[in-house]
Amino acid sequence: MEIDASGPAPASGPARAPLRRVLMLAALAGLVVLLLAAGNRLAQQRALGQGHLRAETALRLTVNALQADLARYEMLPQLIGDLDLIRQLAAAPGDPALRRATNQWLAAQNAALQSSNIYLMRPDGLTIAASNFGTAVSFLGQNFAYRPYFIDAMRGHPARFYGVGTTSGVRGYFFSAPVRDAAGGIAAVVAVKIGVDRIEEAWRGGDYQVMVTDPDGTVFLASDPGWLYHSLNPLTPVRLARTQAARRYADTALTEFPQAALHRAGVELLRLPHAGGGTRDFIAATQAMPGAGWRVHVLLDSAEAMAQARLMLASMVLLLAAGLSGALMLRQRRARIAERLAATAELEHRVIARTADLARVNQRLQQEIAERRATEAELRAAQASLVQVGKLAALGQMSASLSHEINQPLAAARNYADSAAILIERGDYPRARENIAEILALVDRMPAIGKHLRQAARQPGDGTGAVALAPLLRETRTIVAQRLAASGATLELDIPADLPPLCAGPTRLQQVLVNLISNAADAVEGSADRRIELAARAGDGRVTITVRDHGPGVPQAIAARIFDPFFTTKGIGAGLGLGLSITANILRDLGGQISLTDARPGACFRVSLPACPPEAAP
Ligand code: ADP
Repeated sequence: MEIDASGPAPASGPARAPLRRVLMLAALAGLVVLLLAAGNRLAQQRALGQGHLRAETALRLTVNALQADLARYEMLPQLIGDLDLIRQLAAAPGDPALRRATNQWLAAQNAALQSSNIYLMRPDGLTIAASNFGTAVSFLGQNFAYRPYFIDAMRGHPARFYGVGTTSGVRGYFFSAPVRDAAGGIAAVVAVKIGVDRIEEAWRGGDYQVMVTDPDGTVFLASDPGWLYHSLNPLTPVRLARTQAARRYADTALTEFPQAALHRAGVELLRLPHAGGGTRDFIAATQAMPGAGWRVHVLLDSAEAMAQARLMLASMVLLLAAGLSGALMLRQRRARIAERLAATAELEHRVIARTADLARVNQRLQQEIAERRATEAELRAAQASLVQVGKLAALGQMSASLSHEINQPLAAARNYADSAAILIERGDYPRARENIAEILALVDRMPAIGKHLRQAARQPGDGTGAVALAPLLRETRTIVAQRLAASGATLELDIPADLPPLCAGPTRLQQVLVNLISNAADAVEGSADRRIELAARAGDGRVTITVRDHGPGVPQAIAARIFDPFFTTKGIGAGLGLGLSITANILRDLGGQISLTDARPGACFRVSLPACPPEAAP
């Protein structure tokens, strides 16, 4: 039995499922894109942040180194100004011997200190002694009154200034200090110019770039020479005028950086032209240098950080893919487990259903068994009552037969007696005697009825022994001769000469044969074929005798009852219905049996008896 537990699926179900799946996939893809975008930004932020930290560290080192470098020259102008030689020349600027001596001394000091130039100016700005005397670019006779470092020193305190030499065109850092006369007034100004190439040289070759901007945002020191004299801030006319007045950069033209500042992932970057062409984006760390009014910028190429960010993103993508595939695998695993569980549940469901079916069938069977038992009991009861009814019927039949058998001769005897009385009255004694003889004959027949009943009650008449069938049959033939003649039947015998003797009582066996032959003779009466065939065969220690006729045979309906006592189909007076019953009883006594074999047309009775062993033969 197939049980379908699933109900009909909703009509829109199959169409909705793929749509839901597509939407889910789209949502998932969107989520992945969002995650990647956020991850990208995070990775960039992180990599750039780390770059910035590195740049800041480098910046601190750079500023410290720069400050230390400049500090070395800081006090130099004051120390030089305190020297007698310098003071003497300041007091007598026109003295040629003093000027010569001073020039030579300054040149020697300049070489020893590795500075660019050392020179002395009168209070009007005219240079009276210089370390580069006698060269093509000698400062002697030059007036630097417009230079801020001169103006500041003339105000009575040391000063510093950055700029391009107006005479030499060489960039440098200028330190200056006033030279005091005996009265404490300012007699001259000493200036020390330091070249910056050396500083820039130190910056090159590192993995970061350095540039220094003046208070107006103009680059005047840079590891990349291409950046020099470019401004990070807009070049306003005021700024240009200020720079021009100080002649800071002599005649060098200033330009702005095209689009210098930009942002990436929330981190500020500087886009600067690169020596190899094009631009580069730099992570910038900036610090003001106290005292100098400068800003030092350390620049780290962001390409490296971006590559790092890309690597981080790639790892993130890999991680995400691994996570997704892991989730997918987990999902599939769960689906498989769910499927298996569903199958098990379905199986269990079926088992339960089948068990329930079996239980129902079992219950029905038990019910049927109970019903059958009840029916059987009813049948038994019915059978018992039928047996009772059959017995009563048999009794009725018997009494009818008996009363007929007795009443008929009695009635005849009475008639004969009446006739005899009349004949005696008439004196006809001979005929009266005949009548009396008839009465006596009738009375003599009466005990025969009792004999029949006795036999029916199974009282064995003789003992058993070896009986040869052929001689017994010869005897029997004479007994039944009259009966055979009356019905026009013929008896054909088929007895083998070597047939072993039978174990039986001769009288009773003869009774059996007479009964069977008589019944056959009754049956063939009126039939076309009136042969009665009696055959005997031996086998397996037994002898089988068959008596066959060609009469109408025994109808199937009564075949089971013909061996019952008082069962007859021959009508009142024609038979008592005891013949076959007596026959069956005799044979049972003799250890034999009888059966009816259908041989239509006709009947065939088969008798089986034990054969006698040869030593028991008479
Ligand atoms: P009865 O001969 O007095 O009727 P039996 O006991 O000998 O009693 O036979 C019982 C019944 O069996 C007969 O009435 C008859 O119907 C049936 N019968 C016996 N032998 C034959 C036979 N050879 N052919 C047909 N019917 C037979």
